Amino acid sequence: MDYTDLKEAQRRLSKMLPERTYAHSLRTVEMAVTLAERLGADRSIVETAALLHDCAKEEAKHFLQAKNISLELSEKLTDFLDYPSVLHAPLGAYIAEHEYGVTDQRILDAITYHTTGRPGMTTEEKIVFLADGIEKGREFDGVEQLRDLAKKDLDKAVLACLESTLQYLNTRHSAVHPLTIATINYLKEKMK
Ligand code: FE
Ligand code: FE
Repeated sequence: MDYTDLKEAQRRLSKMLPERTYAHSLRTVEMAVTLAERLGADRSIVETAALLHDCAKEEAKHFLQAKNISLELSEKLTDFLDYPSVLHAPLGAYIAEHEYGVTDQRILDAITYHTTGRPGMTTEEKIVFLADGIEKGREFDGVEQLRDLAKKDLDKAVLACLESTLQYLNTRHSAVHPLTIATINYLKEKMK
C-alpha cells in the first residue's frame, strides 16, 4: 500500500495516543496540508506523515526500558538512543511501516526526521517538521512570525525553528542531536 487508509489510521491513532497528542497530530495535518498546497508539495505525503509523526510518542517511553527488540529496529535506532526526546521519530517511522502499512519511503523519512531535520531534507520533510512546530495549538514567543515566514521562505523558517530548539536545549543543558546541528549548518550554507 502506498498511501495508508487515513480514516483507518485516524481511528487507530485516536485509541493509541493520549487525547492531546492526537489533537496535536490532527492540527499538524491541517498546517502541513495548508503549507503543501501553498508550496506545491505532495499533499498525500505530508498528510500521512503529519498524521503519524508522533505515533510512537507513548511507545518511546516504554521502549527505553524494554530490551527485547529486533535487530532490524535496533539498527534503525542506534543513532537516536542517546536522545530520548528524538527517539519517538525514528521509532514512529518503524511503527508507521510495520503497523500502519506505510511503504512510501518519503513518508517514512518525513516521520524519521520530524524532530531533527537532516541535511538535504526534501520540501515534504521540511513541511512536516515545520507544521509540527507551528500548528495552531502552539503558543510561544514568535510563533506568529514563524507562521508568516513558513509561507514565504521555507528554508528560513526551518532554520529559525531549529535554532530555537537548539537554544531551548542549551538553556536546559540537554543533549543536542548531531543531526540538528548538521541541518542548521546545511541550511546556512545553502542560503549563502
Ligand atoms: Fe514529535
Ligand atoms: Fe509533534
